[in-house]
Amino acid sequence: MSEKKPIIRCNPVFKQMVWGGTRLGSDFGYEIPGDSTGECWGIAAHKNGDATIETEEFKGETLRSLWEKRRDLFGNLSGEVFPLLIKIIDAKADLSIQVHPDDAYAAEHEDGSLGKMECWYIIDCPEDAELVVGHNATTREELADMIHNKKWDQFIRRIPIKKGDLIQIDPGTVHAITSGCLLLETQQNSDITYRVYDYDRLVDGKLRQLHVEQSIDVIQVPAKSVEDSKLHTQDLPKNQWNELIACKYYRIFKLTLDGEIAFKQTHPFLNLSVIEGEGTCNGETVKKGDHLILPCGFGDVKMTGKMTVIASTVNDK
Ligand code: ZN
Repeated sequence: MSEKKPIIRCNPVFKQMVWGGTRLGSDFGYEIPGDSTGECWGIAAHKNGDATIETEEFKGETLRSLWEKRRDLFGNLSGEVFPLLIKIIDAKADLSIQVHPDDAYAAEHEDGSLGKMECWYIIDCPEDAELVVGHNATTREELADMIHNKKWDQFIRRIPIKKGDLIQIDPGTVHAITSGCLLLETQQNSDITYRVYDYDRLVDGKLRQLHVEQSIDVIQVPAKSVEDSKLHTQDLPKNQWNELIACKYYRIFKLTLDGEIAFKQTHPFLNLSVIEGEGTCNGETVKKGDHLILPCGFGDVKMTGKMTVIASTVNDK
């Protein structure tokens, strides 16, 4: 008989950013390191941010070291790095307009790094919020012309968003988070970003570096349609896992719990981030801001309470 595996609790890593704010402290109750905290890396095993593990059985480990030593907890998946990175982002100001390469481009031009597919779940945003997703160029020549000649008003495409929307950002998609948005990001475990445009802002008296030629290389032309970029998730049934998206790198699920749910954890691992409310998971208290991993072979799960949880795992189908 094998013993019940423990829930792996991750301690987030915080990042100060020029565009960050204080809501990760005021809304999520984290002890943030300063007044411009832009990112909470909740489930992270990256060289630039590696979550320490709170769970007694794994005290002293980080998610990276657990991935190295205890691959059985993650279904003996192959791969050099833990495949996903889960962040909560507080944008007090607009982020620069950027694009990520795909795996092939990153491997060739970024020292073997992974590319980056990412997905945003909008936790909160202003009434009339818009995000930058995609662009308006129809050919690569037009794209290069718009970027080289700074025709930003023509180039940038903005799409309206609401709380509870899900936006998938494929590699090659021009994107930017805008001021006032609080969101949960599920992404490939990579940190390669090409900055296309930074609104000509000065940071410490200087313009931030742009990556114009790399951007023109990797931007997908034409951009995916607005309709294909966005999913409303507000009215999904309660007390069940609703799959929001399945792409090559991840599957994302949402649970709006008001009562209880019982299910089996049969994925190689299951990331859980509580973004609202509180309750229990197999008797342990869980609350807004908690980031957990249910390991491989975890088996029966019972969750109770009133909370919203976003979950993710790899796509092993
Ligand atoms: Zn991005």
